[in-house]
Amino acid sequence: MAQTVFAPAATPIIPITDHSGFPVHRIFCVGRNYAAHAAEMGHAVDREAPFYFNKSAHALLLSGNDMPYPPRTNDLHHEMELVIAIGSSAQNISVDDAMDVVFGYACGLDMTRRDLQAAAKDKRRPWDTGKDFENAAIIAPITVAAEFGSLKDQVIQLTVNGDTRQEATLADMVWSVPEIIADLSTLYNLQPGDLIMTGTPAGVGVVTPGDVLRGTIGDLAPVETTIT
Ligand code: MN
Repeated sequence: MAQTVFAPAATPIIPITDHSGFPVHRIFCVGRNYAAHAAEMGHAVDREAPFYFNKSAHALLLSGNDMPYPPRTNDLHHEMELVIAIGSSAQNISVDDAMDVVFGYACGLDMTRRDLQAAAKDKRRPWDTGKDFENAAIIAPITVAAEFGSLKDQVIQLTVNGDTRQEATLADMVWSVPEIIADLSTLYNLQPGDLIMTGTPAGVGVVTPGDVLRGTIGDLAPVETTIT
């Protein structure tokens, strides 16, 4: 192969709680997947179909690292989410078979420049600058699926400086984990290394430098960062 003009960017790798690492391929995100959050953003939820946006794998920030306050925003928001880690390829997979391709789960934060997202929505422009920027996908170590057990009764929670800001159960999701995987697999050929951020419960809000964020879902490793 021809020599490259500079070293290619390294594939981001997320630790797995008991061994090795998970190399990240793509990051898919589900919009408005909790009715109470859709309502707080001024939207009714519909069951017509889920919708998606993407973050670059290079937007990843590993939990435990500080998040520098990003440029061009005065309205940085937290969105606490369950992250699905895909372990095998899937195209047009059925809801019944969808859980077979789940490698594991993690706690994640979909950090959002809400002012840029809102401006884009107003002008019917893409959300990229509001959603896909450096350190905007903060992900905790992955727990393998067999060690996590049943999803639906797990509590998802986020605290900022110790105060609870978001709290729900995974049963509150409009689209379940297997429904999301099945639907996404009709749009993309899902690959090992893909991550799916499954949407956020109500209670999203502003963070500012100095804030300490801690998100938990059941016994998964918590996602933690300090805004600097
Ligand atoms: Mn989100």
